[in-house]
Amino acid sequence: MDRRKLSSAVEAIREADSVVAMTGAGVSSASGIPDFRSDDGIWTRYDPNAFHISRFRTDPGGFWNERVELIEELFGKAIEPNAAHVALAELESAEYLDTLITQNIDGLHQAAGSEKPIEIHGNGQRAVCTGCDSRFGIDPIVERVESGETPPTCERCGGILKPDVVLFGESLPKSALLEAQAASRDADVFLAIGSSLTVEPAASLPRHALDRGEVLVIVNLDRTELSDRADYDFRADVTDVLPALTEAVLQE
Ligand SMILES: [Zn+2]
Repeated sequence: MDRRKLSSAVEAIREADSVVAMTGAGVSSASGIPDFRSDDGIWTRYDPNAFHISRFRTDPGGFWNERVELIEELFGKAIEPNAAHVALAELESAEYLDTLITQNIDGLHQAAGSEKPIEIHGNGQRAVCTGCDSRFGIDPIVERVESGETPPTCERCGGILKPDVVLFGESLPKSALLEAQAASRDADVFLAIGSSLTVEPAASLPRHALDRGEVLVIVNLDRTELSDRADYDFRADVTDVLPALTEAVLQE
């Protein structure tokens, strides 16, 4: 890691009035969660159409039967936050990180201690009632599906439950997106972490940050869409860079 580049990025974070971070698949895969879009990702083994919102609407029972397999693959084994999750939570509790936006659906930022990440693609550890909007932990719902309750329904209103994530064909939750955009607009420094910055509309957040003259720090193993324009482009493991960055920011 280039120490001079690191300390210069650290300086920018320490001097900023507002810092926003956005995390993508690279932060989850460091915890052993298979990613969706890579060459051997989830969507090479599952048919994305099976999880489209129109499939959910026309055949919720069949949808859930296939969905539980996917949920088992994503969350079946014990998953733990990694050093990048922990570093971001530390940065937040020391008040150097104002807003955390995540494209990930695994809830690991909260598990690491982040207070209220903006989850623009939802949270796969929960189900939501399509009738009354109540939210439930996913584990008992998976058990109910596996014991034949397809589709699972809400114990409060009888409505059909849906994984609390953005399915194909669904738009992003408007309030989360507006909140993410507002926080990005107010930021001086934007950290884009573990994302190839190709999936819209999340990719436009750092692009607009650059257009406004904010400092863009990218941490990602591979080159990203915005690597050429970024102020700092760390092409390295998120679990190496984030702890080093946080440690340096917190140093007196
Ligand atoms: Zn309900």
